[in-house]
Amino acid sequence: MKLILLGAPGAGKGTHGAAIRDQYHLPIISTGDLIRKAIQSGTDLGEKVKSYVSAGQLVPDEIVINILKERLQQPDCQDGYILDGFPRTIAQARALEEMGIVIDRVIDLEVDDQSIVERLSGRLVCSACGASYHTKYSPPKEPNLCDNCKKPLSRRQDDEPATILERLRVYHEQTEPLKDYYEAQGKLRRVIGQEQVQDTTRLVLAAVASE
Ligand code: ADP
Ligand code: ZN
Repeated sequence: MKLILLGAPGAGKGTHGAAIRDQYHLPIISTGDLIRKAIQSGTDLGEKVKSYVSAGQLVPDEIVINILKERLQQPDCQDGYILDGFPRTIAQARALEEMGIVIDRVIDLEVDDQSIVERLSGRLVCSACGASYHTKYSPPKEPNLCDNCKKPLSRRQDDEPATILERLRVYHEQTEPLKDYYEAQGKLRRVIGQEQVQDTTRLVLAAVASE
């Protein structure tokens, strides 16, 4: 099965993607993670994309498409995958089709802008295991330490207030049109974010299993 997780930054693609992964044993392919890894390892590619990410802009299509193509060639992608954060533009969606990839379902996580800003501005992440926390809604057991690996947590550079607003603007302008695109193909399943994470997870898993 091949799935796409669509939704604004901070809509919970990572959290609910993990629930789908655990149930279906599919790898999560996050272009954001792949891009951050390239930046951290200081490769030429990382240098090239750094300025886009820190400004809250999308990395140019051609570059992300190549990063994704390379990742999908790994053996763990043979039986399907969950795409988290790709496609983010119509051109990227077309690129998937040109690669001959047939997507089964697109899960659209709907969260209003105000909640997004609140979530992202309190978000803390573990750079070791990728776990994410919120200072108010899901704080770590010990302040600023990851529950899993006890490493110090940090704020993502692009979770600064001005950058959050820019990412949201870019989402509405460039990514949201993908809803209509996949709706027209009958693949879109809308999930409204609930107050309790586990309630949303339940809806997401039902949407994945739906006809
Ligand atoms: P979020 O969904 O919280 O914004 P991601 O980790 O998915 O975070 O992405 C972080 C950044 O990486 C984006 O703001 C963008 O700069 C870049 N990026 C990730 N995926 C893509 C993509 N498919 N196309 C262009 N840029 C991307
Ligand atoms: Zn951790």
